[in-house]
Amino acid sequence: MTTSAVFGAFSFSTVPHIVSEPGAVKRIAVYVSQHFPNARRALLVTDSGFLKTGLVDAPIAALRDAGLAVTIFSEVVADPPEAIVLQAVANARSNAIDLVIGLGGGSSMDVAKLIAVLAGSEQELKTMYGIGNVKGSRLPLVQVPTTAGTGSEVTPISIVTTGATTKMGVVSPQLYADLAILDAELTVGLPPKVTAATGIDAMVHAIEAYTTKVKKNPLSDMLARQALALLSSNIVAACEDGKNLAVRQAMLLGAMLAGQSFANAPCAAVHALAYPIGGIVHVPHGLSNSLVVPHVLRFNAPNAAGLYAELAEIVVPGVMGSAEARTQALIDKMDEIAKRTGIETRLRQVGISEADLDRLADDAMLQTRLLTNNPRDITRADAHAIYAAAL
Ligand SMILES: [Zn+2]
Repeated sequence: MTTSAVFGAFSFSTVPHIVSEPGAVKRIAVYVSQHFPNARRALLVTDSGFLKTGLVDAPIAALRDAGLAVTIFSEVVADPPEAIVLQAVANARSNAIDLVIGLGGGSSMDVAKLIAVLAGSEQELKTMYGIGNVKGSRLPLVQVPTTAGTGSEVTPISIVTTGATTKMGVVSPQLYADLAILDAELTVGLPPKVTAATGIDAMVHAIEAYTTKVKKNPLSDMLARQALALLSSNIVAACEDGKNLAVRQAMLLGAMLAGQSFANAPCAAVHALAYPIGGIVHVPHGLSNSLVVPHVLRFNAPNAAGLYAELAEIVVPGVMGSAEARTQALIDKMDEIAKRTGIETRLRQVGISEADLDRLADDAMLQTRLLTNNPRDITRADAHAIYAAAL
């Protein structure tokens, strides 16, 4: 590997305690009592679909056996609206909760973060949007992902749907959990298409962190590279043989490492162009990223080919040639993963038509938090052309 990057000053934060082992969630009460011996009333935050799998029964029983009262909040939905967050906070207050456990996909973990900061605070949610606007402390927070994708268990970011389709982010250091538990037994039931879309989202986190224009640093780079190695070599196997615990654990680990990376070296135009798709058609976050990623990488190549070439060497071992040729190999690999896992590859397949492109381009331009990190400046016309290429 060659790298020409010269790093300046940087800072790096992450979750202080991470456990990665199949079956680990059954010991959640042990970890909780180590960290929070005084906790008595836990709120477990999940969604109704995951609750029905029965996979929450063992950790809940373990917590109750250890003497904790456990209240379940299972009203979380994808792209959680403010009303759900506020409902959950009211629940936490009325039960005098002193520990919050997010157990689910990115939405459940994002809601858990906000409950932890809001339940014991006078501050209103609407004053928390943006970067660094959370005041005060939070309740103890444990995160347990049930998909290998968002990395939300190790990020200080919570995304909330604030209007009909608009999303806003709360980004503050208080949102880092105290403990994250990665347990592949929770992910073995994920359908192949969910495994594919969430896994590609995690790969995009690593790619965007490695090529971000701001805050790129040696730790985020190291994490992004290891994440991509794990994700690219296990994603197809995880889709084909979902019961393989070793493969599932590798995906969870890869997604978490990518989360640590982009928590410190932020995402860029792939995410900026993906969010507006979810505003028009209800597609999962991972799929909307997957639909635009090859086209954004192609657009960015004039400014980022050197870094993309370094990543190509990880996802396509033995790849040779110029930086441009290796960048093309990285793009081809992302295409190949989407095709082999059978997820949609064109915007038309998810219900987007040519008539939607103007609105998509307008909405993408509003994602300034992400666009400013992109290695190449994107105009509205550029965004329009990228969506047209993805149609
Ligand atoms: Zn993402």
